[in-house]
Amino acid sequence: MTDGFYEKYKLPPIVNACGTMTHLGACSALAPVVNAVAESLPMFVQMPYLQARASEVIARLCDAEAGCITACAAAGISVGIAACMTGEDMSKVEQLPDTTGMKNEVVVMRGHCVAFGAPILQMIRIPGAKPVEVGGATRCNPYHLEGGITERTVAALYVVSHHTVQGGQLPLKTFAEICNSKDVPVIVDVASEYDLKGFLADGADLVTYSGHKFLSGPTSGILAGRLDLIRACYLQERGIGRPMKVGKEGIIGAIVALEEWEKRDHAGIRKQEEARCAYALDRLSKIEGLTVSYEPDPTHNPITRVKVEVDELRLGINAAQLAAGCLQGIPRVIVRSHHVDLGYFLIDPCNMTDEDMVITCNRIEEVYNGIGVDTPPGSDPLGYSDILAKWPHI
Ligand SMILES: *Cc1c(COP(=O)(O)O)cnc(C)c1O
Repeated sequence: MTDGFYEKYKLPPIVNACGTMTHLGACSALAPVVNAVAESLPMFVQMPYLQARASEVIARLCDAEAGCITACAAAGISVGIAACMTGEDMSKVEQLPDTTGMKNEVVVMRGHCVAFGAPILQMIRIPGAKPVEVGGATRCNPYHLEGGITERTVAALYVVSHHTVQGGQLPLKTFAEICNSKDVPVIVDVASEYDLKGFLADGADLVTYSGHKFLSGPTSGILAGRLDLIRACYLQERGIGRPMKVGKEGIIGAIVALEEWEKRDHAGIRKQEEARCAYALDRLSKIEGLTVSYEPDPTHNPITRVKVEVDELRLGINAAQLAAGCLQGIPRVIVRSHHVDLGYFLIDPCNMTDEDMVITCNRIEEVYNGIGVDTPPGSDPLGYSDILAKWPHI
């Protein structure tokens, strides 16, 4: 099915060793999802019915009162906050982002003020709300949160992600207890977390997932939580949610992705990923100057990645340069390079085939063997500043 795809659309072929990244086309959608999307595209439907069916599936899988589909997880944050501000009052829905007469402050721990490709604080501002950061970057105590909540507070945002500061933050349970005791609803960004039930169980009022990450669905977002808030989220389609709306194909694709998640052989998939990692560990540990090990997922998703530490003194190049070197050649091999400044990158086995892992190891070896020949500068391992500077002439 993929034969000739890159040539046909004149795109550089890539091997994704990076994970489920929106900027790389997110995930490889499952065949039943692809089929359901294709089936839906020629059909007419009354959208509220489709969203109601989505709500039933979301409620079952997330142990939630209700749910709805949005454009993406980021849209879910903006829509969720809008819902907390307006409730079901349609005049308020149409008034946003002008928040005159509404509570509009959203508390968020400073260590959660991340960028996932766009700044999360901007997702708060989109519906007209105002972020209120609490605590220090690496320490938030209960009194910081309590002190940040005022009579203007309309919601609290909590982020579960490898992007956040991992230490010194309040656990979700404590965060939610404090917010709930003051009647402040808690929205949790769990865009790429595998656990569909635990965050609501820990006290979240709304959670927002990406349909196009671990769920292997189409570009979409899944909101789940309290019935009154989900109803208010859905109503935003007639307001600020309109430019973030999702079509029938996105909703049907997300429904099928959720149903497939229920049936998936999670243990079997994990075994295959582990075998792929073991292969990489075996091959790359033979390269002098690299220290290769397993890296568990920082937020406890069931993914183990391969960590490749680069000894710059012995190798003569650093981790950023090695990662950038992997892009040279066809296909481009894109490793997970968030931490190259700390001297390492990761190889993420999700979304990879066995052959992709062979290509990735080959490429790292080739770069190693060719060191000194044409080692790229590597300060921007994915080369995006160059791509964006020239765009659209690329
Ligand atoms: C990926 C991600 C997002 C954005 O998800 P989209 O569905 O692409 O909008 C938001 N927050 C976190 C923590 C993410 O990892």
